[in-house]
Amino acid sequence: MTKHVLVTGGAGYIGSHACKALKAAGYTPVTFDNLATGWRDAVRFGPFEEGDLADRERIDEVFARWRPIAVMHFAAISLVGDAMRDPGTYWRVNVLGALNLIEASVAAGCKDFVFSSTCATYGDQDGVVLDEDSPQHPLNAYGKSKLAIEQMLGDFGASHGLNSVIFRYFNVAGADSEGEVGEFHRPETHLIPLMLDAIDGKRPALTVFGTDYPTRDGTCVRDYVHVMDLVDAHVAGLKWLEAGQGSRVFCLGTGRGFSVREVIDQSRVVTNRDVPVIFGERRAGDAVSLVSGSERARRDLGWQPDRSHMAQMIADAWRWHQSGHFEK
Ligand code: UDP
Repeated sequence: MTKHVLVTGGAGYIGSHACKALKAAGYTPVTFDNLATGWRDAVRFGPFEEGDLADRERIDEVFARWRPIAVMHFAAISLVGDAMRDPGTYWRVNVLGALNLIEASVAAGCKDFVFSSTCATYGDQDGVVLDEDSPQHPLNAYGKSKLAIEQMLGDFGASHGLNSVIFRYFNVAGADSEGEVGEFHRPETHLIPLMLDAIDGKRPALTVFGTDYPTRDGTCVRDYVHVMDLVDAHVAGLKWLEAGQGSRVFCLGTGRGFSVREVIDQSRVVTNRDVPVIFGERRAGDAVSLVSGSERARRDLGWQPDRSHMAQMIADAWRWHQSGHFEK
């Protein structure tokens, strides 16, 4: 019999790629999504349950119907700029949603939980390469809400035997190389899709947020991971939990940072097109540099981020960008 995995946010960018990877690994992903930012057309790899994590009864119904062996929790709001303007919504949606989900999961006897956390829980760390033991001092309500959920998972582990694998992602980019799913947010706020819009004239230009950061060229540095590599780690994390190896935190980065200017330069090469650029002010809440090693994920999970080369991530994103997107 197929094993069901409840995937919250399975209609979103990373969640839909995770569903594809789960199906390929022999699981049946059950997507739970309110479609606030996700796309019905992205739910292609298993059943769909529309619902909101604010609604505990609806979550209980879904657990009773599918009896999942594990949860992968992606559903969240995740924009640094919005979190600075409206922190209350970040605390409410992310933290209360996760609490409902975790309590429902424990009540249903589903004790394996994979959580999508973020490098935004670290805040500014002065250019060091981060790892799982680096101190966490988030700069904005988005990072703080994710850190609160990490801590919540620890408490439910100690008191209720919930086992969690927490992945702290660095910047996720690229798209499914078979073109079934890809990145598409409305509104779009992320660097690479906005840059591709500027390249093909859907936007007049890309605004670079800040050129006076203490980095090699004055722009922020991030560690970009290919979405297909990232979701491979999630499947490996699920297997880790199924094998009874207990709770663990993993950083998912490549150890190599790219500045905003370097990403733009690579895009010019990959697409062979000009990138119209405006140099603007810093964006509130942005860390200067977020780069991570991934030794633990490589060692414990056998993770190999082989697709996480900037040129490949941009090429896959560009192919997806040109192929047309989901429409509501
Ligand atoms: N960025 C930028 N212009 C944009 C969007 C993003 O210069 O229109 C920069 C942003 O300041 C950050 C990097 O690109 O340094 C990645 O931002 P993104 O929003 O893609 O991801 P985040 O790091 O916020 O998760």
